[in-house]
Amino acid sequence: MSVIHYNGIKRLHCNHYRSFVGLRWEAFPTYLLVLILGLVIGSFLNVCIYRIPNGESIVFPPSACGSCKTQLKPYELIPVFSYLVLRGRCRTCGERIAIQYPLVELANGILYVIAYHQFGFHFETLFAFVLISLMLVMALIDLHTMIIPDGIVLFGLITGLVTSAYHVFYGNSIYYSAKPYNGFIGMLSGSLILLAIALVTDLIYGESGGLGFGDVKIFAPIGLFLGWQLTLLALWLAFIIGGVFGVILLVFFKKQRRMQIPFGPFIAMGTVISLLFGKSLIYVWLFGSL
Ligand SMILES: [Zn+2]
Repeated sequence: MSVIHYNGIKRLHCNHYRSFVGLRWEAFPTYLLVLILGLVIGSFLNVCIYRIPNGESIVFPPSACGSCKTQLKPYELIPVFSYLVLRGRCRTCGERIAIQYPLVELANGILYVIAYHQFGFHFETLFAFVLISLMLVMALIDLHTMIIPDGIVLFGLITGLVTSAYHVFYGNSIYYSAKPYNGFIGMLSGSLILLAIALVTDLIYGESGGLGFGDVKIFAPIGLFLGWQLTLLALWLAFIIGGVFGVILLVFFKKQRRMQIPFGPFIAMGTVISLLFGKSLIYVWLFGSL
């Protein structure tokens, strides 16, 4: 990794970390493949989002209409495309299919493409894919149920440990400076700060200020994936985005102050931004260019 100067802007340069504007059109077929991969996995994420909170298996039975329980045909399982062809309705009973299905698939596909663009054809890009999908599932389950299931945290811990071990073994990382202990400090940093905030607000107000223990726990795997610097950035971004959103709700929708807003979706947004752009964001802030 080296620092290069051009256009008067000091930039962090790394072989696997491209400037976002540097689109390579000759790589278009690869981008398309990555998009398709993201859409297909996004389709599986929908299954996870609806079944995990009910304690159902994510492999069996095959997908069916939520209303009439008719099992879906293979051509009804094509991500986004099926939704458009069926015009958002079940083929059998005509019941509306939630817009969330194609949106989750699209979000996963587009985020995979951005990750591939940022990190290139690299083993660590796979870890980025895992973290992105984990965040999508976590955010939507939290949005629906106000709960971050332990199974999600456990899956994150296992894949996060693999990521961290890879960073130690490989001796470098696309995301952060891969000191052997970095992932483990990361595992503690975000969680402990959130835990402290939850405990202090609990002491002062007699309630945990809307922070649940699930929010504290999910920062352990995030830390393993991102290392402590990007984890703190993710936490900071989550508070900023959540704060702005809360103010908008209060001002424009006259939502009640006491209304519970799940924090998981903001954690997911902060984490994905930190993963994809954190290295350049932190660098720009620390060294004051741009
Ligand atoms: Zn139906």
